[in-house]
Amino acid sequence: MNRTDTQYMYEQMGISPEVRAYGQKIEEELGGRFRRFDETAEYNQLKVLHAMQKNRVSESCFNYVSGYGYNDMGRDTLEAVYASTFHTEAALVRPQITCGTHALAVALSANLRPGDELLSPVGKPYDTLEEVIGIRPSRGSLAEYGVIYRQTELLEDGYFDYPAIEKALTEKTKVVTIQRSKGYQTRPSYSVEKIGELIAFIKERRPDVICMVDNCYGEFVERTEPSDVGADMIVGSLIKNPGGGLAPIGGYIAGKKELIENCACRLTSPGLGREVGASLGVMQSLYQGFFLAPTVVCGALKGAVFAAGVYEGLGFPVIPNSRESRHDIIQAVTLGSPEGVIAFCRGIQAAAPVDSYVSPEPWAMPGYDSDVIMAAGAFVQGSSIELSADGPIKPPYAVYFQGGLTWNHAKLGILKSLQSMVDAGTISEERIRRSV
Ligand SMILES: *Cc1c(COP(=O)(O)O)cnc(C)c1O
Repeated sequence: MNRTDTQYMYEQMGISPEVRAYGQKIEEELGGRFRRFDETAEYNQLKVLHAMQKNRVSESCFNYVSGYGYNDMGRDTLEAVYASTFHTEAALVRPQITCGTHALAVALSANLRPGDELLSPVGKPYDTLEEVIGIRPSRGSLAEYGVIYRQTELLEDGYFDYPAIEKALTEKTKVVTIQRSKGYQTRPSYSVEKIGELIAFIKERRPDVICMVDNCYGEFVERTEPSDVGADMIVGSLIKNPGGGLAPIGGYIAGKKELIENCACRLTSPGLGREVGASLGVMQSLYQGFFLAPTVVCGALKGAVFAAGVYEGLGFPVIPNSRESRHDIIQAVTLGSPEGVIAFCRGIQAAAPVDSYVSPEPWAMPGYDSDVIMAAGAFVQGSSIELSADGPIKPPYAVYFQGGLTWNHAKLGILKSLQSMVDAGTISEERIRRSV
């Protein structure tokens, strides 16, 4: 075989001809979907570029600023770019926001006061929010400050219980928090359109309630964002979608000017607000990552439907399936055995550009009620816009897979996960041959 053949390189990477042939078949079947992801990326690329040009991004935006950071032009312009892209009045985008949980904690605590009520109309929020809110007692939680929390459960189909929501909205409800992505739950992730319907329902009854959307994993998956359909604040992490894989740290909050000012005063200090917070040389990565984000998210989406196609074709339950519309970049695959979960994650790790030679082991991570195995060979620690997977070692033995800075890498990762399961004997080579 010729060394310039792609087949040759796959064999160098440890992928058998059977596994590759099966992958090729699945990829061909997904051609139409891939084209639609490309079209969304094209639209979103223009949206981001338009915002960068309108706000006159210049080379001096990348300058290193230290100390207090008064007049940090790169920081202020980046915030204007985010606000233009998401069609909001203002945005706070900073390396001082350490992660998504921190951004959400700032947005909530900045806009709630003792005695106010916070409502989640979409059931239980993301795990880390439990301690922010005080659902699980925690030092410094909103509960300690006298904020009351209510939630309404989802209907059987995973959507909103409108009569219950109407009842849970009280005179004291100040903020409603809506999580777009399912995270690691089994409910559906919500389309921007569905979120818009929910916000409209709430605003009809209580126009003054602040609607906040946890936008993590959702940015650039669709052509619109929740801020286009009435959300007063959208919140996310820069080591997920909008960082485009280049942001080394950070979070964002975009929304109404008044609310963002509150967030700035909470993040830094009353009286100082957004005027301080030096950008410390990370600006170029934040701009460039945002510029790349639409294409990076597109690659991650291709990887997600490819994983769905590969594993549903072999009879494994997948959520969502390879034909459903996508509202975030997460793909769940139920492998049905601990060995399957472990082999899958080892395959993802083995495909990584960083730490490919280490073999992940399940361990008792703090905050989880079972051992968890994680695969992450990332340039940025914990980055989940980069190819990553994790699986709790408990029934139904599902793995959650996401990211991939390029589609080609996501594809290798999924083929490698399958190869790893074949090599571990959890799937027979014969089964793959029959599926080609
Ligand atoms: C990742 C995530 C968070 C928390 O973000 P971190 O950066 O991990 O703190 C919150 N909500 C959702 C839906 C997420 O996916």
